[in-house]
Amino acid sequence: MKTAAAGVAASRAFAQTPRITITPLGDNLYLLTGAGCNIVGQTGPEGVVMVDGGLAQNAAALAQAVAALPNGGPVRTLFNTHWHPEQTGSNAALGMAGATIIAHENTRLWLQQNITWPWNHQQFKKFPKIAQPNKTFYDKGALDSGIRYGYISDAAHTDGDLYVYFPQQNVLAVGDAAYGQGWPVVDWWTGGWIGGIVGGLQRIQTVANKDTKIVPAQGPLLSFADIAAQLDMYGNIYDRLNQMLNKGRGPSEGVEAKPAKEYEAKMGNSDEFIRRSFESLWAYLSPDA
Ligand SMILES: [Zn+2]
Repeated sequence: MKTAAAGVAASRAFAQTPRITITPLGDNLYLLTGAGCNIVGQTGPEGVVMVDGGLAQNAAALAQAVAALPNGGPVRTLFNTHWHPEQTGSNAALGMAGATIIAHENTRLWLQQNITWPWNHQQFKKFPKIAQPNKTFYDKGALDSGIRYGYISDAAHTDGDLYVYFPQQNVLAVGDAAYGQGWPVVDWWTGGWIGGIVGGLQRIQTVANKDTKIVPAQGPLLSFADIAAQLDMYGNIYDRLNQMLNKGRGPSEGVEAKPAKEYEAKMGNSDEFIRRSFESLWAYLSPDA
């Protein structure tokens, strides 16, 4: 797989081998990128604690990278910030290896069933029991090492979002409840909605402080000020969509009205985001929904 003579099969294998990049976040704490989402790993004598597991096809490479960290080793505790494939691709391997997989109960419920997104017909297969979260919670919890976690009950992205806070390094992993780049996916099929994006950012502000490094599932790290700026933007968009909903408008009219126009230079075309957001309002607020 390293030379041109190695053949087609090998070059295909090379294309599928992800390059995992490691960035220190503080004592024994690392950001791992390249496996499908941002992953936070803490090493220690009791094994590695990892937040999210990347895509399944990258699980082996990720496990190798984690084992090679200073004081690294096998993952003993894995958090799923929500059910999406970018977060849960290491569940099968780590579940079989006996790791504790922590998630909100709603995340386990989604992983127990086949899911099809109505907007693009993308299908997700239910997980075998060994790959499902084996330690679920409803509100919050803590590990012996001091790591705290809790439910982001606003449904920013799904109805099973969680945060994990590392107090020693002042790092907060929030999954897709905040985005580091581009417009978020509003997965209203499994509970996310535009009002939840606003509520989730407010909740993140109550868990973080002004020096906290906030790790979204995608894109660069966020500061407390970044969260405040996002809250301002999504709050404006939410208000505008709500006004249109109250006037009886629908998703296509919402997209046409360009309610996120002034943010597009920085964020990119918002049409898909606005359509999903409007649909999410229907799912949450419409009297006949
Ligand atoms: Zn997601």
